[in-house]
Amino acid sequence: MKSAILVKNNKPLIVADIELPKKINYGQVLVKVFFSGICGAQINEIEAVKGEDKFLPHLLGHEGSGIVEKIGPGVTTVKEGDHVVMHWRKSLGIQSSTPTYLLKGKKINAGWVTTFNEKAVVSENRLTVIPKNFDLRTAALFGCAVTSGFGAVNNDAKVKIGQSVLIFGMGGMGLNIAYASSLVSAYPIIGIDLHKSKLMMAKKFGLTHGIIPTKNLDKKIREITDGKDVEVIFETTGNSKLMERAYELTPNDGKTIYVGVPNKKISIYSLPLAFDKVLKASHGGSSIPNKDIPRYIKLVEKKKVNFKKLITHEFSLSKINNAIKLFRSGKAGKIIINTQR
Ligand SMILES: [Zn+2]
Repeated sequence: MKSAILVKNNKPLIVADIELPKKINYGQVLVKVFFSGICGAQINEIEAVKGEDKFLPHLLGHEGSGIVEKIGPGVTTVKEGDHVVMHWRKSLGIQSSTPTYLLKGKKINAGWVTTFNEKAVVSENRLTVIPKNFDLRTAALFGCAVTSGFGAVNNDAKVKIGQSVLIFGMGGMGLNIAYASSLVSAYPIIGIDLHKSKLMMAKKFGLTHGIIPTKNLDKKIREITDGKDVEVIFETTGNSKLMERAYELTPNDGKTIYVGVPNKKISIYSLPLAFDKVLKASHGGSSIPNKDIPRYIKLVEKKKVNFKKLITHEFSLSKINNAIKLFRSGKAGKIIINTQR
């Protein structure tokens, strides 16, 4: 079974054939993975930004889609043949033990869900069943990108109709935040990104204005807002300097929402927090997979939203390191891995 393994931090992943666990244990589900996304969380794991990685070598990936091949004892929420979204947020069902795979007799660790592999043993509570006729490529985005981005707008920032929004970074997460902001009629929705092509693309998803970072950023923003402060600011890059900047730009009655995982410690002036200023770090958009995913599927089926164009690139699992390189360049929208190619 082909898989991409993190053997050493800050090194390319090793693509190799590994053996599945011999037994599917209590609460576990064997899934044939069709599509997987890539997000900042995997880059952080590769770079060990949270500190020493005690689980090496291990599998990666936390958003995907697939078909259930086999269920373990106790599993009730999914059955063989079901199409599923694979997500890192907890949902219904059992939280099982984590699986161990083998490569030439050597143990390969994995978490409750991994998606950079052709097949995965997943904890029941990391799966949500979707209709069989729903596009699996789109479904993979519901594992993290869409649910986190939409959740950051809906649950964390609670953006109101007509509020102004500013987004740092127009990658997969920024695009979803722009899209969700437009669905709740925020205005203006301003995006900041180094790449003009991404700002152009984001305009198809509700972004009303794009800015390439300059020294007089504040002035540029105020030209768009008729001199007013922006009410809700999202930071999706995790760059500590931009996180500080996002907070500074937020007025004392506004909200700063951190969506990116920080790369360093940050320094902020905290006094305004004692009054009305809100600073919040989003944890997966506080999404509830079994409730949010069916809602988004309904909107796709009724043609109210279309996520297909969020995907700008697709790679086979064997080319995963190229996909990671492209992700790091910041030039792509949402990148998808076709795990069966
Ligand atoms: Zn993610």
